[in-house]
Amino acid sequence: MQSIQQKSFFVVLRGAHIVGPIDLGKQDVLIAGEKVAAIEPHIEMPVSWEYEEILLDGYILVPGFIDSHVHMIGGGGEGGYATRTPEVTLSTATRAGITTMVGCLGTDGITRHVTSLLAKARGLEEEGITTYIYTGAYEVPTPTITGSVRSDLILIDKVIGAGEIAISDHRSAQPLREEIQKLAAEARVGGMLSGKAGIVNVHVGDGKAGLDMLFAIVKETEIPITQFLPTHLNRNPWLFKQAIEWGKYGGFIDITSSVGPRGNSKDPIKPSRAIREALDAGVELNNITISSDGNGSIPRFDENGNIIGLGIGNEDSLLEELGDLVLKEGIKLADAIQVVTSNVAKVLKLWPRKGCIKVGSDADFVVLTPDIELYQVWARGKLMVNNGEPIIFGTFEG
Ligand code: ZN
Repeated sequence: MQSIQQKSFFVVLRGAHIVGPIDLGKQDVLIAGEKVAAIEPHIEMPVSWEYEEILLDGYILVPGFIDSHVHMIGGGGEGGYATRTPEVTLSTATRAGITTMVGCLGTDGITRHVTSLLAKARGLEEEGITTYIYTGAYEVPTPTITGSVRSDLILIDKVIGAGEIAISDHRSAQPLREEIQKLAAEARVGGMLSGKAGIVNVHVGDGKAGLDMLFAIVKETEIPITQFLPTHLNRNPWLFKQAIEWGKYGGFIDITSSVGPRGNSKDPIKPSRAIREALDAGVELNNITISSDGNGSIPRFDENGNIIGLGIGNEDSLLEELGDLVLKEGIKLADAIQVVTSNVAKVLKLWPRKGCIKVGSDADFVVLTPDIELYQVWARGKLMVNNGEPIIFGTFEG
């Protein structure tokens, strides 16, 4: 049993195989506070320095996961007030390998507000992980804190984009193309002026129009396709088919890990399978990301839009799908890991502080067994999960 009480500023992780996501082979990693200070085959520490040593021979060290779509303060409510989903807790994130999380609202932009989301994100950050938020909710015009998507991006550090904006869904505001394109323009300019991604995270529902509106916007305006991060694209076969076209056209496609056997859309495509199929169809690996939709509600509706069942998005599905991607779909770990680390960091403009293991990047790691089981999670230099179990909890947990 290794020591779990971290007392030192310096920690040396010895002998793990690093896939960060570049395969560096067996290396030692020196953590100094919250950062990676050195990566070398053998790190010799000065005798007078106080440090801790963790032996990781036989384990694999990958970057901490970045989950770009989490209902941090809960969501749902589509079946009335009793169906509002609960808030995220620190350990539900860390035990799924998540060290960076982007919060969003959902269907309910009235009893859930961007200000509460901001406060929750700040709380999770104080508890140890890194957080950001999207401003807005399903509806358009979308709720913001300061009056516009543009000014939220410019004035509020944690706001890195707009979302989740709903299209092709009976729960959406049935937005006109002009409304979505104006919103994307706001996010784009707000992002430019604040040095952020200004990404528009778009919830795409089961509606027949699928991605049609987004295709029209990128074909007929100056807004680049990379301004959008459409999500839930594996929810049904016709949307997924369009998603592949979108990806081949240069767009990002975000797969939802809690859609699939756990969720309840009609004929969902299992997330790891969807990634394999997108790659086989010629979508660049760089354009594919995965997110959990954690703590979002997964209501099931009949053909008339009446609610007939309810589930909840689960962060653990990220890790399960990563395992299946490697072990069942035969994608090598150095590629598979990108969809939940480096690709997401690049889309969200968090690279190279996040999404990679490099000198100078944040010390966010997931330590895996060769069977892609979780062993440890480190967030900003702190051990959060050991032996697969959380050892640091949120304020009111447990
Ligand atoms: Zn959604």
